[in-house]
Amino acid sequence: MRCGKMAAAAPSAPAAGAAGGWGGVRRRCQRLLYWVPVLFISSILCWSYYAYVTQLCLLTMTNIGEKVVCLVAYHIFFMLFVWSYWKTIFTLPMNPSKEFHLSYSDKESLEREPRGESQQEVLRRAAKDLPIYTRTMSGAIRYCDRCHLVKPDRCHHCSVCDKCILKMDHHCPWVNNCVGFSNYKFFLLFLAYSLLYCLFIAATDLQYFIKFWTNGLPDTQAKFHIMFLFFAAAMFSVSLSSLFGYHCWLVSKNKSTLEVFRAPIFHHRTDKNGFSLGFSKNLRQVFGDEKKYWLLPVFSSLGDGCSFPTCLVNQDPEQASTPGGLNSTCKNENHLFPAKPLRDSQSHLLTDTHSWSDIGAKAEKGKVGMSNPALTMENET
Ligand SMILES: [Zn+2]
Ligand SMILES: [Zn+2]
Repeated sequence: MRCGKMAAAAPSAPAAGAAGGWGGVRRRCQRLLYWVPVLFISSILCWSYYAYVTQLCLLTMTNIGEKVVCLVAYHIFFMLFVWSYWKTIFTLPMNPSKEFHLSYSDKESLEREPRGESQQEVLRRAAKDLPIYTRTMSGAIRYCDRCHLVKPDRCHHCSVCDKCILKMDHHCPWVNNCVGFSNYKFFLLFLAYSLLYCLFIAATDLQYFIKFWTNGLPDTQAKFHIMFLFFAAAMFSVSLSSLFGYHCWLVSKNKSTLEVFRAPIFHHRTDKNGFSLGFSKNLRQVFGDEKKYWLLPVFSSLGDGCSFPTCLVNQDPEQASTPGGLNSTCKNENHLFPAKPLRDSQSHLLTDTHSWSDIGAKAEKGKVGMSNPALTMENET
């Protein structure tokens, strides 16, 4: 186990302290460097605000009506863009709830036992009442030996955050955050609003951009802002539209970026569409039941991030005890995350509306559903 390796690697206390100190400084520097892409985007955003509002609208446009319409529309797009970007960056990724963590005694016995059947027995016991349907390639329980927990379905360990992230999509350097269950909707809106922002700027700047090349603009510094503004908006529009299109496709198929590269395995059977419930339900799983919240960066996704309905459940006798898992409150170490933040955010994606943990608490021992095939430990990054 990792702890064992760390203990064996520590030669003496002062040396370990010095190494720890240096390691700490390096980690802090690394963390600061991770903010560089965010600063880059923010700087471009600030410059675009100045270039569009001051140089284009206030100093170059002569028609009052055009000026007012552009300024009002621009500020709406700008506000939505910044709001969704902010929420994507600063929404903490959700980690598995405490039910998935091994107990202290399980951790100890896992470290004590040699790899093999006895370790599998410990994991089998720990996973007995958990709503997990996905397995490793070999049919083993998905286990994270860095976080010491049984991984919920669609959860992955992020090597940058060094944590297990619920429904991890990818770690995004442009927001310096993991995109996962807690902020996937915000990320989608960020892509959508940044694309609209760029398209709006490109469309309204186009006529002045043409005037720049036909010498129709007065010879001031505004003309260079107008030119660069168009180039930047057009360039970002192209890259954002392909990324946004790709994520729209992912939502329609109920897949994460990671699942495109490695399809989930349900009891020895790979199924790349295992979590797909049909277009409408897939959309509602991310955006929620209430349409009035769909376009706002407020949390309205359905579920608790720990368990997900799958259309395979009814076909697989081993998954007969379907946990609804769509309206529970999911606690984690950092914060209490509102799994049901909006009133009447009921999910009817599958028939059961109770949380899996409620079901687990009430379930009788020996209930069909979580008997596992051969279990081995998985080390997944
Ligand atoms: Zn982990
Ligand atoms: Zn991450």
